[in-house]
Amino acid sequence: MNSDPSSSGPVPGGRPGDVRRATALSSELAEQGVHGIVLAYVDTAGIGRVKAIPTARLASAAAWGVGMSPVFDTFLADDSTVSTDILGSPDGDLRLYPDLDRLVALAAQPGWAWAPVDRITQDGERHPACSRTFLRHIVADAARRHGLTFKAAIEVEWSVGQGSAPGDAFVPAVSGPAYGTTRLAELSDYAAELLAALAAQDVDVDQIHPEYAAGQFEISVGALDPVATADRSLLVRDTIRAVALHHGLRVSFAPAYLAEGVGNGGHVHLSAWRAGRNLHAGGDARYGMTADAESFAAGLLAHLPGLTAVTAPSPASYLRLKPSQWAGVFTAWGHEARECAVRVITGTAGRHEQAANLEVKPVDLAANPYLVLGCLIAAGLDGLESSAPLPEPVAGDPARWTAAEAAARGVRRLPTSLDEAVGEFRRDERLRSALGPVLADAVIAVRLGEIAAVAGLDDEQVAAAYRWKY
Ligand code: GLU
Ligand code: MG
Repeated sequence: MNSDPSSSGPVPGGRPGDVRRATALSSELAEQGVHGIVLAYVDTAGIGRVKAIPTARLASAAAWGVGMSPVFDTFLADDSTVSTDILGSPDGDLRLYPDLDRLVALAAQPGWAWAPVDRITQDGERHPACSRTFLRHIVADAARRHGLTFKAAIEVEWSVGQGSAPGDAFVPAVSGPAYGTTRLAELSDYAAELLAALAAQDVDVDQIHPEYAAGQFEISVGALDPVATADRSLLVRDTIRAVALHHGLRVSFAPAYLAEGVGNGGHVHLSAWRAGRNLHAGGDARYGMTADAESFAAGLLAHLPGLTAVTAPSPASYLRLKPSQWAGVFTAWGHEARECAVRVITGTAGRHEQAANLEVKPVDLAANPYLVLGCLIAAGLDGLESSAPLPEPVAGDPARWTAAEAAARGVRRLPTSLDEAVGEFRRDERLRSALGPVLADAVIAVRLGEIAAVAGLDDEQVAAAYRWKY
């Protein structure tokens, strides 16, 4: 039996040691004044859903899980349901198992702790629509078949609005300029409390800054293994939201909280490692990449059109995915290139080995981070396995090219609508087979459901429909 918690799933009765550990943890938490534990996961539409338990129930949850309907796998962002051959029925039950390794007391929600969950069936089988389990398996497969491990980080951009704004309107909570000193001063207490809360939760923040768009901020955090990275992306967003509420603020992680202009991205940083060596540094290929790293990047580029249905899953995602807004809407790569979908980052002199990675830009925070990371890795591995050649790098903004010039370079514009993205996803057999038929069908059904939900709405109405969902 594999004892690595990142590759072995929960089992009915608990894995050896789990119940003892949960019992000890629940006593410690109770002593710290923690009354309840949030069991968190993300559905296929990218909405965080929870069940919560009293702290004293943790050992029971570690042994037997907590029940939840499988219907949420085909929930839409507006809480209506679609269905597939397998999913969406009101019948059946799943067990949610908290990952004790990731359990953390919530600094901004005193009295609460938080843990991400894996979901298994009542018979103890893998639930094929559990996105966290999917990512664990992708990571474990890559280790077994290729001797690879990964480091990842997800940037978080969000917009801060006044909590007192009428209805669903967004009124920025700051008036200072992009990246401006003024903006940070305006939300000084909020930002300081946020940093303190993240530090208390052992989140190593690299930086926080006011971003480009109205009321927009960004935080970047250190890289971890992919499952921990996806978990932490949820935790960071929950913390940003909880601290905002203390200050009478309202936050949106929606890809386009306004119909026009720059949106909120969730850029992913990813690097592949073998035997402790970063494949993106110290190699003989371009910018210090190894041949494997180039092929991995080529795999990402080749699958990006289909990946978009996973990384940009909302109708509102396509209000963000526009050229010349640093969202990376072309299937191109370049060194530190901000208008290419894949930006090769080498890091500063002396830190190449630690810092070199690929940044994937056409990703937003409506996306389920477990599905995103699993699918990005599957795409990259497809390139690596076939030694796919990486085309020439691009500098500047591909938007300046005519269609013919872009075609001559093999550069494509990514889908301009969710409908187009679903078409690309349907044609991408590698992605669908990595997800497995149940999850792949769920992705298609949920995306089609979102498309139907906004039929006839104009851009303003689409932005408004999703503004406060994520
Ligand atoms: N807000 C941009 C986006 O939607 C990204 C800006 C940046 O590069 O930080 O992706
Ligand atoms: Mg940014």
